[in-house]
Amino acid sequence: MHQEQHIHDVTIIGGGPAGLFATFYGGMRGMDIHLIESLPDLGGQLTALYPEKYIYDVAGFPNVKAKTLVKQLEEQALAFDPDISLDTAVTHVEKLDDKLFQITTTKGVYFSKTVIINRRSWCLPPTSSAY
Ligand SMILES: Cc1cc2nc3c(=O)[nH]c(=O)nc-3n(C[C@H](O)[C@H](O)[C@H](O)COP(=O)(O)OP(=O)(O)OC[C@H]3O[C@@H](n4cnc5c(N)ncnc54)[C@H](O)[C@@H]3O)c2cc1C
Repeated sequence: MHQEQHIHDVTIIGGGPAGLFATFYGGMRGMDIHLIESLPDLGGQLTALYPEKYIYDVAGFPNVKAKTLVKQLEEQALAFDPDISLDTAVTHVEKLDDKLFQITTTKGVYFSKTVIINRRSWCLPPTSSAY
Protein backbone atom coordinates (compact mmCIF):
# COMPACT_ATOMS: atom_id res chain seq x y z
CA MET A 1 0.00 0.00 0.00
CA HIS A 2 1.27 3.46 -0.82
CA GLN A 3 1.71 5.69 2.23
CA GLU A 4 -0.40 8.44 0.69
CA GLN A 5 -3.32 6.11 -0.14
CA HIS A 6 -6.55 7.17 1.57
CA ILE A 7 -8.09 4.65 3.97
CA HIS A 8 -11.88 4.82 4.35
CA ASP A 9 -13.62 3.73 7.53
CA VAL A 10 -16.24 1.79 5.58
CA THR A 11 -16.47 0.76 1.94
CA ILE A 12 -19.96 -0.19 0.76
CA ILE A 13 -20.12 -2.33 -2.34
CA GLY A 14 -23.38 -1.89 -4.25
CA GLY A 15 -25.42 1.29 -4.62
CA GLY A 16 -28.92 -0.19 -4.40
CA PRO A 17 -31.37 0.89 -1.68
CA ALA A 18 -29.49 -1.08 1.00
CA GLY A 19 -26.13 0.43 0.04
CA LEU A 20 -27.57 3.93 -0.17
CA PHE A 21 -29.09 3.74 3.29
CA ALA A 22 -25.88 2.23 4.70
CA THR A 23 -24.01 5.18 3.16
CA PHE A 24 -26.31 7.65 4.90
CA TYR A 25 -26.19 5.84 8.22
CA GLY A 26 -22.41 5.53 8.29
CA GLY A 27 -22.07 9.20 7.44
CA MET A 28 -24.51 10.15 10.17
CA ARG A 29 -22.30 8.21 12.61
CA GLY A 30 -19.27 10.25 11.54
CA MET A 31 -17.65 7.57 9.38
CA ASP A 32 -15.62 8.19 6.25
CA ILE A 33 -17.62 6.27 3.60
CA HIS A 34 -16.80 5.03 0.11
CA LEU A 35 -19.70 3.67 -1.96
CA ILE A 36 -18.78 1.63 -5.04
CA GLU A 37 -21.36 0.81 -7.73
CA SER A 38 -20.71 -1.11 -10.92
CA LEU A 39 -23.50 0.58 -12.90
CA PRO A 40 -23.39 4.23 -14.07
CA ASP A 41 -26.36 5.12 -11.82
CA LEU A 42 -27.32 4.54 -8.20
CA GLY A 43 -30.51 2.75 -7.16
CA GLY A 44 -29.81 -0.90 -7.95
CA GLN A 45 -32.79 -2.89 -9.21
CA LEU A 46 -35.14 0.06 -8.70
CA THR A 47 -33.25 2.15 -11.24
CA ALA A 48 -32.17 -0.61 -13.59
CA LEU A 49 -35.33 -2.73 -13.69
CA TYR A 50 -38.47 -0.89 -12.58
CA PRO A 51 -38.11 2.88 -12.17
CA GLU A 52 -41.78 3.50 -13.09
CA LYS A 53 -43.28 0.81 -10.84
CA TYR A 54 -45.11 1.76 -7.65
CA ILE A 55 -43.89 0.18 -4.40
CA TYR A 56 -46.42 -0.37 -1.62
CA ASP A 57 -44.34 -1.92 1.17
CA VAL A 58 -41.98 0.85 2.29
CA ALA A 59 -42.67 2.05 5.83
CA GLY A 60 -44.18 5.54 5.88
CA PHE A 61 -45.10 5.52 2.17
CA PRO A 62 -48.56 4.16 1.24
CA ASN A 63 -47.16 4.10 -2.29
CA VAL A 64 -44.05 5.48 -3.93
CA LYS A 65 -42.60 5.18 -7.44
CA ALA A 66 -39.27 3.33 -7.48
CA LYS A 67 -37.45 6.26 -9.12
CA THR A 68 -38.86 8.67 -6.53
CA LEU A 69 -37.68 6.46 -3.69
CA VAL A 70 -34.19 6.30 -5.25
CA LYS A 71 -34.10 10.09 -5.53
CA GLN A 72 -34.93 10.39 -1.84
CA LEU A 73 -32.42 7.70 -0.88
CA GLU A 74 -29.73 9.45 -2.93
CA GLU A 75 -30.40 12.81 -1.31
CA GLN A 76 -30.21 11.18 2.12
CA ALA A 77 -27.05 9.23 1.21
CA LEU A 78 -25.23 12.35 -0.01
CA ALA A 79 -25.97 14.32 3.16
CA PHE A 80 -22.58 13.59 4.72
CA ASP A 81 -20.45 13.91 1.57
CA PRO A 82 -19.38 10.30 0.98
CA ASP A 83 -16.95 9.30 -1.77
CA ILE A 84 -18.93 7.62 -4.55
CA SER A 85 -17.43 5.62 -7.41
CA LEU A 86 -19.89 4.84 -10.22
CA ASP A 87 -19.28 2.60 -13.22
CA THR A 88 -16.76 0.80 -11.04
CA ALA A 89 -17.04 -2.94 -10.42
CA VAL A 90 -15.33 -4.59 -7.47
CA THR A 91 -13.44 -7.60 -8.71
CA HIS A 92 -11.56 -8.71 -5.60
CA VAL A 93 -11.62 -8.05 -1.85
CA GLU A 94 -8.69 -9.12 0.28
CA LYS A 95 -8.00 -8.77 3.99
CA LEU A 96 -4.39 -7.65 4.36
CA ASP A 97 -2.03 -8.66 7.16
CA ASP A 98 -2.39 -5.30 8.84
CA LYS A 99 -6.18 -5.85 9.13
CA LEU A 100 -6.98 -3.52 6.31
CA PHE A 101 -9.12 -4.52 3.36
CA GLN A 102 -7.76 -4.07 -0.13
CA ILE A 103 -10.54 -3.57 -2.65
CA THR A 104 -9.64 -4.11 -6.27
CA THR A 105 -11.97 -2.58 -8.84
CA THR A 106 -12.09 -2.05 -12.58
CA LYS A 107 -10.87 1.52 -11.96
CA GLY A 108 -8.22 1.08 -9.32
CA VAL A 109 -7.37 -0.25 -5.87
CA TYR A 110 -8.83 1.15 -2.63
CA PHE A 111 -8.28 0.51 1.07
CA SER A 112 -10.77 0.39 3.90
CA LYS A 113 -10.99 -0.60 7.56
CA THR A 114 -14.29 -2.39 6.97
CA VAL A 115 -16.35 -3.54 4.00
CA ILE A 116 -20.11 -3.95 3.64
CA ILE A 117 -21.03 -6.23 0.79
CA ASN A 118 -24.47 -5.72 -0.67
CA ARG A 119 -25.11 -9.33 -1.55
CA ARG A 120 -28.53 -9.13 -3.21
CA SER A 121 -27.13 -9.19 -6.71
CA TRP A 122 -23.53 -9.81 -5.80
CA CYS A 123 -21.18 -10.95 -8.54
CA LEU A 124 -17.73 -11.03 -6.92
CA PRO A 125 -15.61 -13.93 -8.15
CA PRO A 126 -15.26 -16.76 -5.58
CA THR A 127 -11.47 -16.27 -5.40
CA SER A 128 -11.87 -13.26 -3.09
CA SER A 129 -10.35 -13.84 0.32
CA ALA A 130 -12.43 -11.45 2.40
CA TYR A 131 -14.58 -14.13 4.01
C1 LIG B 1 -39.52 -6.24 -11.01
C2 LIG B 1 -39.21 -6.14 -9.53
C3 LIG B 1 -40.14 -5.57 -8.67
C4 LIG B 1 -39.86 -5.45 -7.28
N1 LIG B 1 -40.78 -4.87 -6.48
C5 LIG B 1 -40.54 -4.76 -5.15
C6 LIG B 1 -41.49 -4.15 -4.27
O1 LIG B 1 -42.56 -3.71 -4.68
N2 LIG B 1 -41.17 -4.08 -2.95
C7 LIG B 1 -39.99 -4.58 -2.45
O2 LIG B 1 -39.77 -4.50 -1.24
N3 LIG B 1 -39.07 -5.15 -3.26
C8 LIG B 1 -39.31 -5.26 -4.59
N4 LIG B 1 -38.39 -5.85 -5.41
C9 LIG B 1 -37.13 -6.33 -4.81
C10 LIG B 1 -36.18 -5.16 -4.55
O3 LIG B 1 -35.92 -4.45 -5.76
C11 LIG B 1 -34.86 -5.69 -3.98
O4 LIG B 1 -35.15 -6.37 -2.76
C12 LIG B 1 -33.90 -4.53 -3.72
O5 LIG B 1 -33.53 -3.90 -4.94
C13 LIG B 1 -32.64 -5.05 -3.04
O6 LIG B 1 -31.86 -3.93 -2.75
P1 LIG B 1 -30.30 -4.08 -2.54
O7 LIG B 1 -29.74 -2.71 -2.31
O8 LIG B 1 -30.06 -5.12 -1.50
O9 LIG B 1 -29.74 -4.73 -3.90
P2 LIG B 1 -29.83 -4.25 -5.44
O10 LIG B 1 -30.98 -3.36 -5.70
O11 LIG B 1 -29.74 -5.53 -6.22
O12 LIG B 1 -28.49 -3.42 -5.61
C14 LIG B 1 -27.24 -4.07 -5.60
C15 LIG B 1 -26.26 -3.18 -6.36
O13 LIG B 1 -24.96 -3.76 -6.25
C16 LIG B 1 -24.29 -3.55 -7.47
N5 LIG B 1 -23.20 -4.53 -7.58
C17 LIG B 1 -23.30 -5.87 -7.67
N6 LIG B 1 -22.09 -6.43 -7.77
C18 LIG B 1 -21.19 -5.40 -7.72
C19 LIG B 1 -19.76 -5.34 -7.79
N7 LIG B 1 -19.01 -6.44 -7.92
N8 LIG B 1 -19.17 -4.12 -7.71
C20 LIG B 1 -19.91 -2.97 -7.55
N9 LIG B 1 -21.28 -3.00 -7.50
C21 LIG B 1 -21.88 -4.19 -7.58
C22 LIG B 1 -25.39 -3.75 -8.53
O14 LIG B 1 -25.05 -3.13 -9.77
C23 LIG B 1 -26.59 -3.09 -7.86
O15 LIG B 1 -26.74 -1.73 -8.23
C24 LIG B 1 -38.64 -5.96 -6.77
C25 LIG B 1 -37.69 -6.55 -7.65
C26 LIG B 1 -37.97 -6.62 -9.01
C27 LIG B 1 -36.92 -7.23 -9.94
